[in-house]
Amino acid sequence: MLKKVLIANRGEIAVRIIRACKELNIKTVAVYSNADKDSLHTRLADEAICIGEPAANQSYLNVKNILEAANITGADSIHPGFGFLSENAKFAKMCEECNIKFVGPHYSVIEKMGDKVHSKETMKKAEIPVIPGIDAKDKSLREIKKATQKIGYPIMVKASNGGGGKGIRIVEKEEDLENSLNIVKKEAKQAFNNDDIYIEKYIEHPRHVEVQVLADEFGNVIHLGERDCTIQRKNQKILEETPSIVLDENLRERLYKAAIKAVKTVNYTNAGTVEFLVDKNGNYYFMEMNTRIQVEHPVTEVLTGIDIVKEQIKIASGEKLSYKQNKIKFNGHVIEVRVNAENPNKNFMPSPGTITGLNLPGGNGVRIDSGIYAGYTIPPYYDSMLAKIIVHGQNREETIAKLKQALQELIVEGVYTNIDYLLKIIDNENFKTGNYDTSFIEKFTI
Ligand code: ADP
Ligand code: ADP
Ligand code: MG
Repeated sequence: MLKKVLIANRGEIAVRIIRACKELNIKTVAVYSNADKDSLHTRLADEAICIGEPAANQSYLNVKNILEAANITGADSIHPGFGFLSENAKFAKMCEECNIKFVGPHYSVIEKMGDKVHSKETMKKAEIPVIPGIDAKDKSLREIKKATQKIGYPIMVKASNGGGGKGIRIVEKEEDLENSLNIVKKEAKQAFNNDDIYIEKYIEHPRHVEVQVLADEFGNVIHLGERDCTIQRKNQKILEETPSIVLDENLRERLYKAAIKAVKTVNYTNAGTVEFLVDKNGNYYFMEMNTRIQVEHPVTEVLTGIDIVKEQIKIASGEKLSYKQNKIKFNGHVIEVRVNAENPNKNFMPSPGTITGLNLPGGNGVRIDSGIYAGYTIPPYYDSMLAKIIVHGQNREETIAKLKQALQELIVEGVYTNIDYLLKIIDNENFKTGNYDTSFIEKFTI
């Protein structure tokens, strides 16, 4: 078993990983920027080491300082969490070269699956349905125009290395193409320091359905069911649930099969998520694979009782999967919401500042994953997600009722939050009846 894990992340996911390590009796090293000296993850780990200035590229993206921190503290492994360096193949490779176990798939697999262009080519070869698209890298505007005519409008322009819903734009007609390309390029350069562009057909009225997989280093692969993440704002998930209410048993089985095939095709190891779009006719398309733990992993943990982060660590330690596919049980219904420090009335502007008062909900079937406490000051440099509320009920209706209660109990004072906004979503008739697609937020102007 790994002996000492350095967590190259911050916030609730760092806390989540520290907890899993503690349960497994593994020592933990937190890394923190100057802005995170008083963060929960810094306090909860066995050791904490400062890795630089607040800006992410000086700290949580600072490969040199992170590897040095691992060296100094004698960590034998690094868990990257999500965001930051989690899908960075170069970083995973450097870890290996430094004799540090990267808790995730092998860097060669991240190279294949971590970016949207490569992974689609690989999946196409494996005969998994992919969204028709083109790699716009090194293509002239004329070439791109010609290719998009074949695909047909509307199209989606995406940053090839994007994530978190950033660097994505719908283009309705050819006249808007050039302008949109320029905008996405600029955004991508800023957010991901890479302006490679990928274009694909816009799938109309889609639902986002993803499959959680686990694979050990002995070729054993299982899935842990699906998550429906259709409720999104600007292509970023805000509410995730399982099971998905749009899948019938046949489609569900086909998605699971496709996900397992995807994983086996590339000899994937550790935890991962295969993301699909499902259209209104029940066609499904591979969209991307996230080669890391995802924000919404607790939804699956609650449904199955399996601790995915602990499984990640065990797999990285060279253990076989602790579960067989036919032993996995899916119990009831689970919904997660992302609570953010942001002001919905000011275009969701992030709202950093000090949390002057805090009441977290509780009760039967309510789980909170957070990185905050009363008196904590949210720094302005990072993601605005404060906490995730995950509720478990026997069926969807009961779960929604429980979630409503939990959100009403939740009090975060001192900063703006999206709590009321989340309440409006789950009170919406179309949400309750399941009559929606990824445009839910725009359509019903919550
Ligand atoms: P998930 O895919 O786990 O459901 P998100 O897409 O919202 O969740 O991403 C989780 C976090 O990671 C967000 O803070 C997001 O900004 C960040 N993130 C995701 N992908 C990337 C990426 N490729 N580069 C930088 N940050 C990313
Ligand atoms: P990210 O890396 O930011 O997660 P994704 O490629 O997973 O980017 O897309 C994020 C979201 O954007 C999807 O969940 C979906 O709602 C929307 N989206 C992406 N591609 C398409 C498409 N081709 N057609 C319709 N919607 C799409
Ligand atoms: Mg995605």
